[in-house]
Amino acid sequence: MIPLKGAEVSAKIKNEMMGAIAGMGGQTPKLAIVRVGNRPDDCSYERGATKKLIAFGLRVQSCVYPEDISDADFRKAFAAINADPDVTGILLLRPLPKQIDEKAIEEAIDPLKDLDGISPVNIARVFAGDASGFAPCTAEAVIEVLKAYEIPIEGKRVTIVGRSMVVGRPLSMLFLKENATVTICHTRTKDLPGTCRSAEILVAAVGRARMLDAAYVGKDAVVIDVGINVDTEGRLCGDVDFASIQECASMATPVPGGVGAVTTAVLAKHLVRAAQLQKHGSVDGK
Ligand code: NAP
Repeated sequence: MIPLKGAEVSAKIKNEMMGAIAGMGGQTPKLAIVRVGNRPDDCSYERGATKKLIAFGLRVQSCVYPEDISDADFRKAFAAINADPDVTGILLLRPLPKQIDEKAIEEAIDPLKDLDGISPVNIARVFAGDASGFAPCTAEAVIEVLKAYEIPIEGKRVTIVGRSMVVGRPLSMLFLKENATVTICHTRTKDLPGTCRSAEILVAAVGRARMLDAAYVGKDAVVIDVGINVDTEGRLCGDVDFASIQECASMATPVPGGVGAVTTAVLAKHLVRAAQLQKHGSVDGK
């Protein structure tokens, strides 16, 4: 089985972006990462994203608020970031604490700064197959991995396990746009192993450590593991039992070292695109 390495895909995305970044002169795009509280997975994602964007030559500002901030105070702070002309793009780490009306924030975020596709405007565009919107970075990262490794998508049977608004649902639309035949699975799916086995491309976005083993993978399938879990021994692992699928899968993304690295590269790509859209109204300045 061939491992699909996120670092290689990320380097490819970086190469493609360098010209656009250099062409921006002194106006380096800036990402605002908005975090409420100190959840370890949020802090870890923030560190990874910051490191990646700085390595790409971009700017990052962390905006951190206390866990018990009131809804009114958070809305006020968020409105200021949203309106700041020096902030090109925003990444809101979610879920927000219960006292904050998350839906109101999703509706308030400027669609042109909404790098992770949480605004209803961007969601509608993704679901309409309109590439002008920002898709959630992780969903787009899955497509980037397949394209970087020149794995054909058109006409393929794709099964996605997971139907969240962050990964499964928008990803199903991105696959549909690429002319794949898409099946979405969830907790009520009957015969999950059989449905997964019939896939030529299998995507795991479940959130359960090593749940999908060889019984879920058809011969020569391409497996993309979106999961980020910590196993009972405290080790980082995916939703796929990577060791057990060696004989059946043709290619698969490891965890760590797979989709996660590409997600932050897509975030960087979205930031540069946001800068172009805000400056010229299009990505090529025409
Ligand atoms: P989520 O919101 O918890 O959704 C999980 C989905 O999996 C749900 O649709 C759920 O079905 C389904 N599911 C759970 N257990 C199942 C089972 N036993 N059989 C069939 N379906 C099952 O999770 P998420 O936010 O999409 O994240 C999924 C994974 O991706 C997590 O490990 C997360 O950490 C990771 N992630 C990674 C990145 C990255 O950059 N690589 C980014 C985001 C998330 P129901 O809808 O029926 O409940």
